[in-house]
Amino acid sequence: MTITESLTLMLALLYGASQLWWAGKHYGFVATLGSIAVALAIAASSTLLIATLVAAVGLSLVYWRKPAWITGEVRINQLRDGFQHLLFLALLLVALQYTINTLMLKAGMTPWLARPNVVDAFLPIAGGIELKGISAGIWDQNHPAAAVMLAVVLLTGLICKRAFCGWACPIGLVGDKLYRLRKRLIKEELMPPAWLDWPLRMVKYLLLAAFIYLVCFSMPTMAIPGYLNGNYHKIADVKMALFFITPGLVTLAAFALILLIVAWRRQGFCRYLCPYGAILGLLSFASPLKIRRNREHCLIESRGMKCDKCTRACPANIIVHTKTTVRSDECQACMRCVAACPKKQALGFGISSNRSISARSVMLLTLTLLFVLPFAAYLAGYWDSQTPEMIRMQLIQMVNRIGH
Ligand code: SF4
Ligand code: SF4
Repeated sequence: MTITESLTLMLALLYGASQLWWAGKHYGFVATLGSIAVALAIAASSTLLIATLVAAVGLSLVYWRKPAWITGEVRINQLRDGFQHLLFLALLLVALQYTINTLMLKAGMTPWLARPNVVDAFLPIAGGIELKGISAGIWDQNHPAAAVMLAVVLLTGLICKRAFCGWACPIGLVGDKLYRLRKRLIKEELMPPAWLDWPLRMVKYLLLAAFIYLVCFSMPTMAIPGYLNGNYHKIADVKMALFFITPGLVTLAAFALILLIVAWRRQGFCRYLCPYGAILGLLSFASPLKIRRNREHCLIESRGMKCDKCTRACPANIIVHTKTTVRSDECQACMRCVAACPKKQALGFGISSNRSISARSVMLLTLTLLFVLPFAAYLAGYWDSQTPEMIRMQLIQMVNRIGH
């Protein structure tokens, strides 16, 4: 695990532990710290130890001032935005480290910064093939983090709906910024008519079907070892990076279309095009956690008032104020509706209308799923790529000649 990954991991884990302390769960805090200590002893990694020290000192210095985002006394929307921006910042650092590593290999130099394995999260098809291989006892050694991160994201869907989309996804964050920028220039809400919205939403399911076909049907299990040991897979991350850095005309046109959709409609990419959004939406039906409206407390039933603040706050255009449970595959567990609700206990995210969890708990749950499983995979020896640096260097020199 590289220094950027280790630092992000330890900051996340120590921040999570501290949130337990601020929430009054002191036993949970001690147990979490104990687990981290045991994990560090098992890992016996100097990089992780240094990262832990830096994270602990950094957090302690910040804690000195007791800012609201640390003590948890912060509004739902601020908490979610802060969490999403911090993850985005970590991702930018990872991207920088990856770029330096790859450019040095391309120049034939031994990199002084290791490749961050978490970039394999951007190889969902490879991750899917690896998961299929694992089910048959075939373990990839070149990009194991791809399978781990795909499993992590799928697990978030099963446990806490599309909280990954609402709380963590960097593409969702960038899309939101673009949409806001467009709104400054053109104020109108350019919503598609309902008859067009539904077919457009189905596009992401068609893309998901194509991915599933590629992973499950286009490659028989017996062909998986050959693919996983092939040169293409060994530098699949570089191929993916080149796809974005040196796009062809068709790719450029596709990017332009995506930008238009994102600026045109809030969460346009998540709603219409993202295959991750599609699979998380399907998995989210099984999640026990859902947005639930308590009729006893809602202003509509309890006081006979007219209110639709929750509906108006929803970026996914879900009609919340007439439902008792939001089951929609478009719900991203962002809790904007809960934040907008003027009546305490009327709306919440939980397993029943009387048993809701706080926004801080949603953030901690997402954080735990995103960081603890990769850490466990690392401890189990299934995170770091085993592709020798020299082989990567050689393959990068002839990357354009390597195909499937
Ligand atoms: S229903 Fe609530 S939690 Fe779900 S997307 Fe809409 S605002 Fe977010
Ligand atoms: S905002 Fe709150 S009080 Fe108003 S309709 Fe929604 S759940 Fe009921």
